[in-house]
This record gives sequence, structure tokens and C-alpha cells, in this order.
Amino acid sequence: MSLYTKDITLSADSPKELLLEKHVEFITKYGKSEDDYEFGMTDYLRISGMYWGLTALELVDKLQTLPQAEVVLFIKKCQDEDTGGISACINHDPHLLHTLSAVQILCTYDQLDKINTDRVVDYVVSLQQPDGSFTELLLEKHVEFITKYGKSEDDYEFGMTDYLRISGMYWGLTALELVDKLQTLPQAEVVLFIKKCQDEDTGGISACINHDPHLLHTLSAVQILCTYDQLDKINTDRVVDYVVSLQQPDGSFTGDKWGEVDTRFSFCAVATLALLNRLDAIDVEKAVAFVESCKNFDGGFGSRPLSESHAGLIYCCLGFLSITNRLDIVNREALAWWLCERQLPSGGLNGRPEKLPDVCYSWWVLSSLTILGRLHWINASALKSFILACQDVETGGFSDRPGDIPDPYHTLFGLAALSLLGSNCIKPVNPTFCMPQHVIDRLKIKYQLL
Ligand SMILES: [Zn+2]
Repeated sequence: MSLYTKDITLSADSPKELLLEKHVEFITKYGKSEDDYEFGMTDYLRISGMYWGLTALELVDKLQTLPQAEVVLFIKKCQDEDTGGISACINHDPHLLHTLSAVQILCTYDQLDKINTDRVVDYVVSLQQPDGSFTELLLEKHVEFITKYGKSEDDYEFGMTDYLRISGMYWGLTALELVDKLQTLPQAEVVLFIKKCQDEDTGGISACINHDPHLLHTLSAVQILCTYDQLDKINTDRVVDYVVSLQQPDGSFTGDKWGEVDTRFSFCAVATLALLNRLDAIDVEKAVAFVESCKNFDGGFGSRPLSESHAGLIYCCLGFLSITNRLDIVNREALAWWLCERQLPSGGLNGRPEKLPDVCYSWWVLSSLTILGRLHWINASALKSFILACQDVETGGFSDRPGDIPDPYHTLFGLAALSLLGSNCIKPVNPTFCMPQHVIDRLKIKYQLL
């Protein structure tokens, strides 16, 4: 038995000298033609690719063969306005790898003054986590987290979230669709489960089979079926009957037949009906009058007349007014100001004064500001840093605050908020319905934004 070492053989005609000029030519021409196979392939590492080529050329004293002004201008265009970070290509998301490559190139050219270096510093700082590490948006981990969530019936979370099963499905499923991974869930099973949760007596939908129906789960079920384009799988006329049955003489809505009145349920009612194109089934004028009666002196809204303003309820009331085309009753500037004041030094947003920041408020506040046309009043890069810091690096998923246990609820609202902030790797989300914008467009659902 001979001793075999894995290796290759150098052929006689292999080059024996350093082919400097050829290398210069190779690097100079590389990726010039947009037809090059490599051009497309390496699109996502364009700036790092420039760093390799350019540094190789400078090491053999041929840097002048590259068009310096073009390279510098390209880097300038790759600096992200929101975060200060630098992306591989124009209109891609910034990344720490490309940020370093860009700075290396500009140092070599002695052209650091051509980008906003203070913003680069902000970007790097924003990526440091409480444990000292650095991280970015962990999309694949989040998909894995949601897909696996509640799969085992032994899971602690499985039992805990039994009562919010249908809403839980809506959170997970919408989060997956926003990152284009909806196909990882078993659509037929989900649709069949929802069908079984429709109550024969009332037409409403419950969280689980054999539970009592509730308006929250009825909306979640309708949202899921809209996303799947499977509304014909339930009796939608009966859903409309159910929503109509919950409207009170003063125009308000209860969440179920025993429940208290709350502006959240006014939102659920009109959102459900709008998605079914049956807003005409209720007394919209009275419904609006009730929501208007919950408006406070600070521009915010509470759950009932004279209740304290709260970001979650403000979202519900603005969503309600967006659907009913009555944003004219809002005190726009005062409310937008109140919402902006929810941002804390950590970059995170709270739901009312003196409370801790929480990822889900990133959604309630940002969607409200988007409806008001005042999204730019928030410090977007600080907020993005806060949201990214709430990712669980090990399991995927987002938690309410850095270091807490992640769940599908905060995962949806973290991703949806990043979508509103303009992340390129997340699909656009509709601020009124918290659903993929393409679904709202497909169904031709009307909503008002200021
Ligand atoms: Zn929360």
C-alpha cells in the first residue's frame, strides 16, 4: 500500500514568473462588462471586490490604472442615509464588511473626506451588542425560529399561547411572508384549522377549536386567509354577521359577547369588514363618533372616553380612521409630536411616558407616524439599532428588549418596523393593516394616509 497525499501536479507549462502586467490587466478589466458571469455573481460583494482588486494593484504600483474618481463616487453613493453604513452596491443594505472595505479604499486613495465618516462611526457603534459582540439582521435565524415555534407539544410556549393560537399564526405567518418564506408553513393545514375555528352559532372565529369566538382572532383569521388568497374557505357572510352583532348603540364595539368596549375592537371590526369589502354592513358614522370621543387633549387616543393616551391604542384609532377615511378628525401635529417623544436615548420606543422601550412599540408608533406622514420625525438609525439589538443571536426571533426571550409577536413587529424604516431585505408592509402591501394591493383595499 502506497502512501497517498491529496495534491495536484504542476504541469510543465505552468507559469514560472510573476505575470504582473497580466494581473493588472485582469483586475482592471474585471467586471467591466455587465454581461460577465462574474459581474452578476459578485454583485453582492462589489465594494469588497473593489478593495481586493485595488489593493492588489497598489501593491504592484499600478493603482493609477483604475478610475479613482469613479470608485470614490460609487462608494459615496453606497453610504446609507439612514444608518451611515456602506453597502456592497447602491440600494443594498449596508453591512460592516463593506463598510470596512470602503474605508480601506478611501484611506489608500487619501479620500476619506469624500464620505460622512461621523455617520460611519455611528453605524459601527450601532452594531455593538450589550455583550460586546457585533451583529446584523439575522434573517435566516428568524425564519427557523418561527417555523419551529410551537412545533413540539411539549414546548412550554405551546401551552402558554393556546389562547392566542390564531393570532399567533397571524404573527408568524406574516413575519415569514415579509421575508419571502411563507412556503415554509403548511398552508392547507393552517386554512383547515381556521375553518374549524369558525363558530357555527355566531359566525365568529375563535383562537382554538371549541373556544369562544373573539373579534381579535376573527381579524387574524381573515388577515391570514387574505394573505393566502383563501377567503372562500370560510363563510365570510357569517363573519360579517358576527362583527355587526358586536356593535353597540353608541357605535363602539365589544371584543366578544361578554367583553368590555375598547377602541381596539373598533379597529378589529372595521379592518375585518374592509378586508371582506363589507364596511357598509355597520353604522360607520356612529363608529367614528365613538373613536372621536376617545381623543385626548394631547392628540392621542385611549381605550374609552377619558382614558389615558397609549401608543397601541393610538395605532388602533389611526388605523380605524385610515380605513374609514376620517383622518380629518386627527390633531396631526400634536399627535405626531407625542409619538416622537416616545423615543428614548437607547433609540427604542415606549408606549407611554415613564415606561421601558419595547420592540412592539416600534411598530405601533412607527405605523402611526407613517399614517400621519411624519415617519421622518423619528431617529431612524437609533431605532434600527435598538430593534437589531433585540434579536436572539442563538435561536433567532426578536424579544421585547435586548436579552429577553424571543416570541413570534415581537418578531413580526420587529421585522414590520424595519420594513417601515426601509430595509431592502424585508417586503413593504402596509401601516394600516400590518399585512404585506402586495396583499392589500391585490385585494384593492382602500385606506387613507396623510
Ligand atoms: Zn412588547
